[in-house]
Amino acid sequence: MKVAKTIDEMSALRRQMTGSVGFVPTMGALHEGHLSLVRRARTDNDAVIASIFVNPTQFAPHEDLSHYPRPLDQDLGLLREEGVDVVFIPDASEIYPEGFATWVVMDDVTERLEGASRPGHFKGVATVVAKLLNIVQPQKAYFGRKDAQQLVVIQKMVRDLNMSVEIVPMSTVREADGLAMSSRNAYLSSEERRAAVVLYRDLVSCEQMYEDGIRDASGLRRAIESIIAQELSARVDYVSIADAETLEELETIGTDRPALASLAVYFGKTRLIDNVTLGES
Ligand code: AMP
Repeated sequence: MKVAKTIDEMSALRRQMTGSVGFVPTMGALHEGHLSLVRRARTDNDAVIASIFVNPTQFAPHEDLSHYPRPLDQDLGLLREEGVDVVFIPDASEIYPEGFATWVVMDDVTERLEGASRPGHFKGVATVVAKLLNIVQPQKAYFGRKDAQQLVVIQKMVRDLNMSVEIVPMSTVREADGLAMSSRNAYLSSEERRAAVVLYRDLVSCEQMYEDGIRDASGLRRAIESIIAQELSARVDYVSIADAETLEELETIGTDRPALASLAVYFGKTRLIDNVTLGES
């Protein structure tokens, strides 16, 4: 496995690659969720490139950029074991050199949910993903449904800007008790970790209510909120039942378009997100 630290090094290695290239962008602190993307990229393509870059522009000033876990040696070991060909680990100054001034800004879909709670977040995400795709030039890039809105934003960016890459969505990988794997789970105390399983329990109940024929979105939102309220250490940021593509909040879930049930909840200082899609064929 080769490690590229600069864009020049990455581009030189890319030029040597023939056949299809699959790309998995990450912020590191890798877990089975990330590795599921790498494994799929490995089966689908002749070569796999992964990146580890804790992107400063997607963090607000009060967020956890400086504390974000960075176990680089361990991450490189995991990627090597999965047969990754090249890992791109640029510094922030490589991606955002002095004078950097061009951003990818998307209307509407970025203003809701995570975008409303984290203003500017998706400007950072879309910009860095566009840059990484331009640098790595993959045929396919792999993203987790765990970050459902991020996936919607990237699919839309690729369509809107006619970028020539296929975005492959991947299912959320969960711990044995259902908690979605996340690098941020490491921040949880044992009490918070125990409480955090309410996210999954809640989404499973929501799916069940949907299966039972409930289509009233306000009713589903209220039901989700009341389940979380039973967990005293949990503080709700948002609970949403929205159109899965536009992310507009729904009154009623229609029969023809899937809905995204998503939530963001604080456990202590740690903010966790999770979601399920309702009515997906
Ligand atoms: P991150 O390092 O958090 O930026 O995540 C990198 C990629 O891994 C993103 O496409 C995430 O959606 C995906 N990912 C993170 N957690 C999971 C998970 N539990 N299951 C599947 N994919 C995940």
